[in-house]
Amino acid sequence: MSIATREQEVVDKVEKRLYIGGEWRDASGGGTLEVEDPATGEPLCEIADGAAEDAKAALDAAVEMRQEWADTPPNTRGEILWKAFEALNERKDELALLMTLEMGKPVAESEAEIVYAAEFFRWFSGEALRIEGDYRVAGNGASRVLVMRQPVGPSLMITPWNFPMAMGTRKVGPAIAAGCTIVMKPAQQTPLSMLALGQILEECGLPGGVFNIVTTSSSGQTAGPLISDPRLRKLSFTGSTEVGRKLIEQSAGNVLKVSMELGGNAPFLIFEDADLDAAVEGALLAKMRNIGEACTAANRFHVAEPVAEQFAERLGKAMGELKIGRGTEDDVKVGPLIDQPSREKVEELVQDALDKGAKAVVGGQSVDGTGYFFEPTVLGDVAPDARMLKEEIFGPVAPVTGFQSEEDAIAAANDTEYGLVAYVYTRDLKRAIRVIEGLETGMVGLNQGMVSNAGAPFGGVKQSGIGREGGFEGIEEFLEVKYVAVKV
Ligand code: NAP
Repeated sequence: MSIATREQEVVDKVEKRLYIGGEWRDASGGGTLEVEDPATGEPLCEIADGAAEDAKAALDAAVEMRQEWADTPPNTRGEILWKAFEALNERKDELALLMTLEMGKPVAESEAEIVYAAEFFRWFSGEALRIEGDYRVAGNGASRVLVMRQPVGPSLMITPWNFPMAMGTRKVGPAIAAGCTIVMKPAQQTPLSMLALGQILEECGLPGGVFNIVTTSSSGQTAGPLISDPRLRKLSFTGSTEVGRKLIEQSAGNVLKVSMELGGNAPFLIFEDADLDAAVEGALLAKMRNIGEACTAANRFHVAEPVAEQFAERLGKAMGELKIGRGTEDDVKVGPLIDQPSREKVEELVQDALDKGAKAVVGGQSVDGTGYFFEPTVLGDVAPDARMLKEEIFGPVAPVTGFQSEEDAIAAANDTEYGLVAYVYTRDLKRAIRVIEGLETGMVGLNQGMVSNAGAPFGGVKQSGIGREGGFEGIEEFLEVKYVAVKV
């Protein structure tokens, strides 16, 4: 089969309609929206363009199924998740190709995302059986304290385009395990992975109405009425801090329980005593995973002065060797950015840094031709007031700046409104502990360029978010605590 035919086949296989109450249906207004391949700028297919009344129908279905799903035995909920974990792995080749077509990252990275996404189902299939309660004797001995956890109820999930499958399963896994029903609104640029997930969950026996999907080109108008609907009990959002702030405001009306996985601006700190080979390897991973379009992407490299230049040169050499191209081609390591505005933002940030005195060690330009490609770029001597040290770059650009002392490094790392993740490279354990304790982030990678792990609590502090996904903490986001005072 030719590559083009195989690509067409995986796109054709995906349902293009809304998934509501266990049925695939067209948008009420009959509209469609186009999904594009960012490597070519060419359309891939059309999908249903839902509106507010479709979102309401999806919430109706989630509300109707609420009690039945909450009463479904944990074993059953866990078994469906386990089946879906297996199905995702069995179909990872076709799902990876689909993801690359709509999002652009190299197929090997899409495959890694499918495996990572499936891990949330494996983890939460077990957690479905471990929803804890407890029993205590009141201090005065006259009553007993019974604590139980119950599903929070119908939950709206809004996900971004950068990890089209994993950002979904990280929410859907714990919600299904906890006994919650769901309305999912994926990003309009990458809806196909989520629609494929809907098909998989359906085939794995998830009852209709538990998981509903509304794709739309008008996210605000479609999601807004749901957020103010008192039947909705939870909003779980992953996306930019800017949109997150708006959604928190909108959620205030109903005092909605919110989880917010927002933007990042990760510092990558390298001390003089670090293993520089390991630091370059970790930096490549932290910077180039997902073409730099990750909330966890190392956004800025703060390096001890004596090794800063050497590090920039070694990273530049490694980044300069990465093959740029369509994610479906062999050996490609750098796919296109998601769209032209994203590429323009990267261009602007690079120009601003160069204007303020930075030196391009490698790269620095957009790539001519079709698609939204940008060269892997390392900039040395980046001035402290360069915009890219403060703003999320979301592209394959690594600014390197020097520091003189441990205190300066910590202060520079924390000098941001964000607080998602930081990376620290040092061989000195005492220093590592001091620095980690001083960092204002929800996560730290110590001598490691990647922190994502289904069994760990992922999330940020400051304006990077509220709540945690994954780990023991992930299911708590979909549970409410009820305490019963028992007279004895
Ligand atoms: P975005 O623009 O904030 O969009 C995220 C989602 O919100 C999309 O589904 C979008 O729909 C929807 N949306 C936008 N405006 C809305 C509104 N007014 N009401 C309801 N929904 C709305 O973010 P993005 O560009 O897709 O993703 C990149 C951002 O996500 C980065 O800042 C990145 O750091 C962050 N992120 C964070 C994490 C984390 O775990 N902390 C993980 C991944 C990404 P449309 O597609 O229709 O615009």
